[in-house]
Amino acid sequence: MNMIVQKFGGTSVGSAARMKDVAKLINDGKKKIVVLSAMSGTTNTLVEIADYLYKKNPVSANEVINTLEHKYADVIDGLYNSAEYKQKATDAVKVHFDTLRNLSKNNFFTVFEEKIVLSQGEQMSTAMMNLYLQESGVKSNLLPALDYMRIDKNEEPDTAYIREHIHKELEKVPADTVIYITQGYICRNAYNEIDNLKRGGSDYSASLIGAAIEASEIQIWTDIDGMHNNDPRFVEGTSPVSTLHFEEAAELAYFGAKILHPTCILPAKLGNIPVRLLNTMDPSAPGTLISNKITQHKIEAVAAKDNITAIKIKSGRMLLAYGFLRKVFDCFEAYKTSIDMITTSEVGVSVTIDNTKHLDDIVNELKKFGTVTIENNMVIICVVGDMNCANVGFQAKIVNALKDIPVRMISYGGSNYNVSFLVGASDKKRALEALSRDLF
Ligand code: ADP
Ligand code: ASP
Ligand code: MG
Repeated sequence: MNMIVQKFGGTSVGSAARMKDVAKLINDGKKKIVVLSAMSGTTNTLVEIADYLYKKNPVSANEVINTLEHKYADVIDGLYNSAEYKQKATDAVKVHFDTLRNLSKNNFFTVFEEKIVLSQGEQMSTAMMNLYLQESGVKSNLLPALDYMRIDKNEEPDTAYIREHIHKELEKVPADTVIYITQGYICRNAYNEIDNLKRGGSDYSASLIGAAIEASEIQIWTDIDGMHNNDPRFVEGTSPVSTLHFEEAAELAYFGAKILHPTCILPAKLGNIPVRLLNTMDPSAPGTLISNKITQHKIEAVAAKDNITAIKIKSGRMLLAYGFLRKVFDCFEAYKTSIDMITTSEVGVSVTIDNTKHLDDIVNELKKFGTVTIENNMVIICVVGDMNCANVGFQAKIVNALKDIPVRMISYGGSNYNVSFLVGASDKKRALEALSRDLF
């Protein structure tokens, strides 16, 4: 379909004024799908409400619900011109606050109810934007994500289902619709229950939708002018990267560049649909274009992934005899724990994981093969760019930048796009700064 998908994150729709800016931006007469996150702060507040309900504290949950409702009343007041639309928006939002209050009356609260709570934010922001556009005379309609977005039993997107059902939903709305507004983040699972694509998942929604409709471009609009060459939350003086290859962007997203959800690049890459990262606060800035083109000989950016645990399995006897790695990997597979980094030697193997839910069980299994040591609170520093081995010299430059920092693991060769290092959390900022200083 010759449409673009535009996704706006929480800050981009975080107030009445911001919503008006987004409405102006999207209203260019071109047919498009607009994916919205919840207003900034809302999903965190919904998590807080769910926490109180888990702890059987409906009084505190209701206090938080009331405060959130007041905030929405203020936004509605600032957003619409007419009493008619203020009333329409108040009614639309009330449905969701009623849902929250009803859930707080139950004397049980499980993951099932929690996911219903978490789904309310995107439903409210999209209802409000849709009404605002309609009040402004724009031909806008809602595409309910819960009717087409779906994950399967393995919590992976059910792409065939999504493709079929989004087309059905597109056909249901009036043919003269110019802007289709839909919810990011929320979906149904294989049991038809309300579920979500994990925190930050609206980016993933946008790329799944883009792939499903074979969009001409997927735009991720946020509060910064594209992918920066280092994490702006830790390093001063970072600057935007103008172009990235899909693989480079995927590595950066997976290894901590919060601007993109870790899995958001894959659907776009598979469909060869360019992804553009743009800034709602500065719409004319060029941003970052992610496509299948690589800039040769260039180190593009650095990212860091926190809360990493390193596990070393060491043994004196021919540890790496054939079949050994399979046994080690089987332990992780049995507990559905994915490995981020791996390095080997004749006497041992080190791996890193970020999900420690089954760490004790995994360690107990691994102890059958040798001495196991664990180090918590580590960080993976990932340097991304054209790292084809023919580009002699980039490793030396990177290693030299880190010359004063204790490095626990080094990994290169898994792809032509990254070199990764494991360092202690206390060295993270220093390592990121050193890399920026020497590489950019
Ligand atoms: P949204 O709510 O629009 O999804 P996010 O907060 O999820 O926005 O992502 C944008 C933020 O990502 C930026 O404000 C910035 O602080 C952070 N960020 C982390 N690493 C990078 C990076 N390499 N480039 C740009 N932004 C980054
Ligand atoms: N609202 C969700 C979150 O805050 C999804 C998103 O913003 O991408 O995580
Ligand atoms: Mg985000």
